[in-house]
Amino acid sequence: MKLICKKCGKNAKEIVLDTYEYIEGFPLRNVKAFECPKCREFIFTPEQVEEIEKRTEQLKAHIFAFERKITISGRSLVINIPEDLAHHLNIVKGKKVKLIPLDNRRFLVEAIEK
Ligand SMILES: [Zn+2]
Repeated sequence: MKLICKKCGKNAKEIVLDTYEYIEGFPLRNVKAFECPKCREFIFTPEQVEEIEKRTEQLKAHIFAFERKITISGRSLVINIPEDLAHHLNIVKGKKVKLIPLDNRRFLVEAIEK
């Protein structure tokens, strides 16, 4: 497999990165990539990108899967939002979210940009 750096035209070498954050805050370990020997730019094959995306999604699901018990406030059912998740989604008291049913077991909570 040969990859050429688009900036330098040099042959990139296959390397393994100890840690790599494809999306900030979701570090992956032992990520295969190519590196340009001149400008040190990382280059990924489409297969490598696909694997990195898949692993990042798995990590996200693992980090942000919380179990919560439904409680009651007045006549409404309430689900507490964990602090980390609220911070990640930039949700604060008074902010609006949209609840979108996906099927008969799941719904999506979408932060409305304001
Ligand atoms: Zn280069």
